[in-house]
Parts: sequence; C-alpha cells; structure tokens
Amino acid sequence: MRIDNAAIEKIKQQADILDVIGEFVRLRKMGGRFVGLCPFHEDKKSPSFSVSPDKGVYHCFGCKKSGNMFTFLKDYLGLNFNESVEYLAKKYNINLTYSSENIEKSNKTDLAFKALSLAASYYSNLLMQKN
Ligand code: ZN
Repeated sequence: MRIDNAAIEKIKQQADILDVIGEFVRLRKMGGRFVGLCPFHEDKKSPSFSVSPDKGVYHCFGCKKSGNMFTFLKDYLGLNFNESVEYLAKKYNINLTYSSENIEKSNKTDLAFKALSLAASYYSNLLMQKN
C-alpha cells in the first residue's frame, strides 16, 4: 500500500516541526531559531541542535545530523517513510488515503523521500552558513 500524495501534502502543510520535535527535545527560542540538546549525540555542555520552523528543518552543529520532520522520525524513532507519515497523520488527525502500489510508484515514493532529505540538508547548510 502506498500513501496517497495528497495526504502527504496535507501533513506537510499542517504539521509543525517544532511540535513534532518538541515532543522529544526541549527547545527554546533563540532569534528566529529554536535550540536544544541534540538527541542524536551526547550533547551536555551547550545546545547544538537547532530547528528552523520557517524552513521546516533541523541541524545539529555537533554531530551534523540534519533533515526535516520525516527524517527526524526516521532517525529518532526508527520509522520508515510510511510509518512516519502515519505517525504524523495520527498526531494531526489527518485521514490517510492509500493507493494500490506498483513497483514504479514505490520507487517514486523513495525518490520523493530522497528529494525531501536533499532539500532538508540544503536548507540546513544555508542555516549553518548564516551562523
Ligand atoms: Zn548532534
């Protein structure tokens, strides 16, 4: 089963990365960003984990982990793309619709996921350069 793109778009519009990550990481506002202790490495001295809500991405200046809310759920909770979409749909009460899968389409989903991750690391690089 493949989750319908329309549902994924709806999640992207409604889900708030601060909300999603804020459930696991305590974030505080610092300028236009939010910072907290990184959940991906031992981050005890100063918060090196930074979330940019307007771009929908996070970046860690310590371990260089970066991505969007989908990659966060993947890396933090170990969810695959479909599972992270389902997780967010549940959190935001969004009804998921499924379309029947064929190999070509599931490759496209993988590609979309890769494209999302690429865009996220692109933005977090921008984020890094601002500092
Ligand atoms: Zn880190």
